[in-house]
Amino acid sequence: MNKVYDCVIIGAGPSGIGCALALKDKGFDIALVEASTPGGKVNIAPRVDNYPGQKEIPGPDLAVLFYQRVLDHNINFIGDEIKSLTKENDLFISKGNNDTYVSKTVYIASGTTERKIGLPKEDQLFGHGLSYCALCDGHFFKGQDVLVIGGGNSALKEAIYLAGITNHTYLIHRRNEFRGSNKIVDELKSFKNVTILTPYIPVEFLGEDKLEGVVIQHRETGEKQTLSVQGVFPLVGQDPNSKYIELDIKNEWGNIPVDRKMMTSVEGAFAGGDILPRDIRQIYLAEHDGKVAANSIEEYLRK
Ligand SMILES: Cc1cc2nc3c(=O)[nH]c(=O)nc-3n(C[C@H](O)[C@H](O)[C@H](O)COP(=O)(O)OP(=O)(O)OC[C@H]3O[C@@H](n4cnc5c(N)ncnc54)[C@H](O)[C@@H]3O)c2cc1C
Repeated sequence: MNKVYDCVIIGAGPSGIGCALALKDKGFDIALVEASTPGGKVNIAPRVDNYPGQKEIPGPDLAVLFYQRVLDHNINFIGDEIKSLTKENDLFISKGNNDTYVSKTVYIASGTTERKIGLPKEDQLFGHGLSYCALCDGHFFKGQDVLVIGGGNSALKEAIYLAGITNHTYLIHRRNEFRGSNKIVDELKSFKNVTILTPYIPVEFLGEDKLEGVVIQHRETGEKQTLSVQGVFPLVGQDPNSKYIELDIKNEWGNIPVDRKMMTSVEGAFAGGDILPRDIRQIYLAEHDGKVAANSIEEYLRK
């Protein structure tokens, strides 16, 4: 017979850790289960300088500070990947590679994964001119030339943000029509330092230690041209890490909508952080969700 936890938290990024710290302080019996490195995506943020309390800090160093709090609070941290999450007889069953965790409530904070372009050097140039988050890293390219790849609202909005701080912002999209709204496309077009090129795809990232340019190709004519840019932002979407969830709580894209208490459509199942359907994904928001969820989980458990 498995032990029954008050709460199992899936994912030890800022959201999962935020929730774990608060629940532990409230005296609940919890397990924080993480498939990879504690700190989550913060580990791949080159530099974080918008997090209150830290002037400017490399992402991996901030992730260590997050994990230090977990250790200081004596939180039951378990390295395991959850492969399925179900609810049976009012209890949540999180089955991992190594063990099965049973709990009265669950906090789902397993985040998202950036969709990659899939070109050679994409990993090599990541953090050296290539970034998946304009809002986070755009200011490193102040006064420089950058390229945004993508045609959804996120790509368009991040291109507008970049247009405001860079010398020139290019945007390429593989179709002539944008998935994002016409209003946002028009707003982007109103910038004098923006060039929109369609239907183009990237075919090569140039540079070894740092990005020096991107070769793009017209999808109909095959014509190629090189854009000399110092920054490139592939913003072709994020996939929620939610495939393992067998509860009926996901929207059509796999994100998890919640109410203002961070509860999903299944009683006792809470979610927060990047896995929610939202436009802005940031550390402070993820952490905030974790804290709000901890209060709601307390309320739910005491009922
Ligand atoms: C390149 C980059 C730079 C960024 N820079 C900044 C910045 O400067 N400032 C800022 O505020 N934000 C920044 N962000 C955004 C920020 O990192 C995220 O918003 C934040 O980390 C989201 O926290 P989270 O806890 O929701 O998810 P994550 O941080 O993604 O954590 C989710 C965790 O869940 C784990 N997990 C997934 N599936 C499972 C499973 N099945 N079982 C167990 N564990 C699982 C993952 O391994 C991961 O550790 C950046 C993001 C990127 C990609």
